[in-house]
Amino acid sequence: MKQYDVIVIGGGPAGLAAAISAYDNGCKDVLLIERDNRLGGILNQCIHNGFGLHTFKEELTGPEYADRFIREFHNRNIDHMTGTMVIEITPDKTVRAVNSTDGLIDIKAKAVILAMGCRERSRGQLSIPGSRPAGIFSAGTAQRLVNLEGQMPGRRVVILGSGDIGLIMARRMTLEGANVLAVVELMPYSGGLKRNIVQCLNDYGIPLYLSHTVINIEGNKRVTAVTVAEVDENRKPVAGTEVRYECDTLLLSCGLIPENELSSQLGTKLSRVTNGPVVDSSLETTIPGVFACGNVLHVHDLVDFVSEEAALAGKNAALYVQHLGTTNKELIPVTFSPEIRYTVPAFINMDSITGDIKVRYRVGNNYQNKKVLVTSGGKVLSQKVRRIMAPGEMEDVLIPADKLRSAGRIAEINIKVTDNG
Ligand SMILES: Cc1cc2nc3c(=O)[nH]c(=O)nc-3n(C[C@H](O)[C@H](O)[C@H](O)COP(=O)(O)OP(=O)(O)OC[C@H]3O[C@@H](n4cnc5c(N)ncnc54)[C@H](O)[C@@H]3O)c2cc1C
Repeated sequence: MKQYDVIVIGGGPAGLAAAISAYDNGCKDVLLIERDNRLGGILNQCIHNGFGLHTFKEELTGPEYADRFIREFHNRNIDHMTGTMVIEITPDKTVRAVNSTDGLIDIKAKAVILAMGCRERSRGQLSIPGSRPAGIFSAGTAQRLVNLEGQMPGRRVVILGSGDIGLIMARRMTLEGANVLAVVELMPYSGGLKRNIVQCLNDYGIPLYLSHTVINIEGNKRVTAVTVAEVDENRKPVAGTEVRYECDTLLLSCGLIPENELSSQLGTKLSRVTNGPVVDSSLETTIPGVFACGNVLHVHDLVDFVSEEAALAGKNAALYVQHLGTTNKELIPVTFSPEIRYTVPAFINMDSITGDIKVRYRVGNNYQNKKVLVTSGGKVLSQKVRRIMAPGEMEDVLIPADKLRSAGRIAEINIKVTDNG
């Protein structure tokens, strides 16, 4: 059986950055496996700009951002297989994959990095009533059709969900000549970035209806109309508020879910909030030597943070391989106040503090003028003031390595959102 030190699963921005980082941190024996026929992941279909502001201090399109990492990847001659789908990983880190030239392949790894990205919530998962005609697409599928395959999914469009992909597709469909009648959002706030609401909806006069949902889909062969209604605080439709839109297309942008089949079948513990693996500050899952990064770990808004996180996973996978056997870890749980929905990592690995630790998290509501306090045993480890916090924007807080090292024996690290002043 072929053997590698590190196998990376997924060739999107997370997988590319993780493989490059594992290599640069001393692990030259790396294999990346990607099911698509090319590297780059979801970025290949994101032809709009707005990528790379943090990493490269310039505004790139998705393919341009991916290209920079693909070049770096090829410069290092890292082994890769495209058109190859991983179908199983065993706890002893045998990776089973399949492709059309080799058939079924088993490859053994000392460490595995999960970087399989995420998928979109489907109509079935949303339980929208009505008939089942053609013309209902996830926003990402529509994006692929328009940007990669040169096909227009429809002409009169309603979009359910105001996540970033829905907002971007509202603009994209408009630019391609479609009439986007409305973007409808169940929650009282948008799930997307503020900049996308301004640049993709407001700039094109596309209305956003918060606290609304689609309550019926009409059509026999093809969608002919959808009915939208306001919802109350329990997210139940309010009678008498129904508006019927004649349209041929309904796009769904109602959330992304980590591509977690391999992670769960492997037996990694999954977070009930993110649906991705639970990891410590080394980005190691509950299975020793298996790391996770990018959208398979938790859904990110900005690819820059995916690359940053993945570089850390790659570095830690390389360290794991170089220090096999020294995996006894002291894990300190990260607890948090009710404003916060989850944190990544869920634990701090006190035996491997190689630098300041960035804890990423999302809040469950809109907040203004708040202070975020990180404490342990009554000592403040770090704090920051946030003027605005929104569920659609990932937050982070840095815990300085020296504060952690000098904290002595601690039982937990707590992150609390409080009023500022
Ligand atoms: C529509 C859209 C618009 C976006 N807009 C922006 C933006 O404007 N600015 C910005 O900064 N960010 C944006 N993002 C976010 C950013 O693109 C993502 O956060 C980033 O691409 C996630 O990287 P990833 O590597 O985790 O996942 P992906 O890019 O999804 O890559 C995962 C890869 O894993 C592969 N894979 C999955 N399962 C297997 C398997 N079993 N075997 C082998 N390979 C597998 C997939 O084929 C895929 O190539 C956008 C994302 C989307 C979806």
